[in-house]
Amino acid sequence: MLALAITPSIPGLKAVSRAEPAIAAEDDVKLRVLRVGICGTDREEVAGGRALAPPGLTDLVIGHEMLGQVTDIGHSVTRVKPGDFAVFTVRRGCGKCLPCLMNRPDMCSTGDYTERGIWGRDGYQTEYAVDKEQYVVRVPPEFEPIGVLLEPLSVAEKAIDEAVRVQQSRLPDSQATPYWLYGKRCLVAGLGPIGLLAAMVLQLRDAEVYGLDVVEDSTPRPRWLEAIGGHYVKGNASAPKDLVANIGTMDCVIEATGVPLLELNLLDLLGHNGAYVLTGIPGGDRPLQIDGAEIIRRLVLNNQAMLGSVNAARDHYQMAADDLAVATCRWGTHVEQLITQRHPSARYADAFAQHGANEIKSVIEWSTPNPTK
Ligand code: BGC
Repeated sequence: MLALAITPSIPGLKAVSRAEPAIAAEDDVKLRVLRVGICGTDREEVAGGRALAPPGLTDLVIGHEMLGQVTDIGHSVTRVKPGDFAVFTVRRGCGKCLPCLMNRPDMCSTGDYTERGIWGRDGYQTEYAVDKEQYVVRVPPEFEPIGVLLEPLSVAEKAIDEAVRVQQSRLPDSQATPYWLYGKRCLVAGLGPIGLLAAMVLQLRDAEVYGLDVVEDSTPRPRWLEAIGGHYVKGNASAPKDLVANIGTMDCVIEATGVPLLELNLLDLLGHNGAYVLTGIPGGDRPLQIDGAEIIRRLVLNNQAMLGSVNAARDHYQMAADDLAVATCRWGTHVEQLITQRHPSARYADAFAQHGANEIKSVIEWSTPNPTK
């Protein structure tokens, strides 16, 4: 079968041939891949950045944001059946630490995890994939058109869930509202797919949502945000300090830019007792000059919490599936408009080209769904 692969550390993407995987254990699930999204991590891998080939191999099949249709299951599998739409999660545990043994490899404490399509394990930019039932999440058939967004949405769900848990556990007034985010002023920095999906979740939780980016107001990302009730903040017009004068301080900042200086400078926007969650993974290793004393002073004197969040647990995928359903009830096919580019697998090179401000999410189409019963 055809697959898209890289050689880690060497820029470039190539089509390779791989043996079609088969069910080999009673808890295996086989999916025919329908489509796979492309994110900053994939682009970074193709550019020669962070990636690891499976043990003993030089190439890595990329792709981790997938949607498939079940073709075959081992005889003990109950979570899905042939014909169902489903996704496989990304991270596989180290098998040693407690979080991994509790099926929370997203919180692996040894660092010896693997990730499909990123770190030591082949990914999903190919025709078929097999994995264990514990890593499969069913997508109801009505959400097949947006099911490929489940993985990036799971990452946003985890980041927001962590902020809420931290705030609920430490703030004396956290029980004053039905849910901590209710009415809270939240800024999402970087309106790529993760940022927009985070904005969507925050809207669903009744927060007051601001989205910061540098693109023109008339382009698809700000327009998508405003259509769900968020406020667009154009960042290149003013420095973070000036932004405070315009929009005020925030109770929560979800950072999804991956631009190191901005990631830290946006602390200027965080209010007293606020939570700041970093999700962007910067590429490269350019040195960064920051006013460390000022940042520390601010964090301490304002009781602020700053945390990094990566990957997602199976529960976050489930939350993502639930939120896709609620978002579809509220905004209809608007959610699907996040997928701005669809490329047939044969034209994979086009998919990895940059599409500028008009692009939100590009996907590679591997096959078309079969009708479900
Ligand atoms: C993926 C995560 C992954 C992270 C680090 C992100 O792009 O969405 O699943 O854990 O990269 O490799």
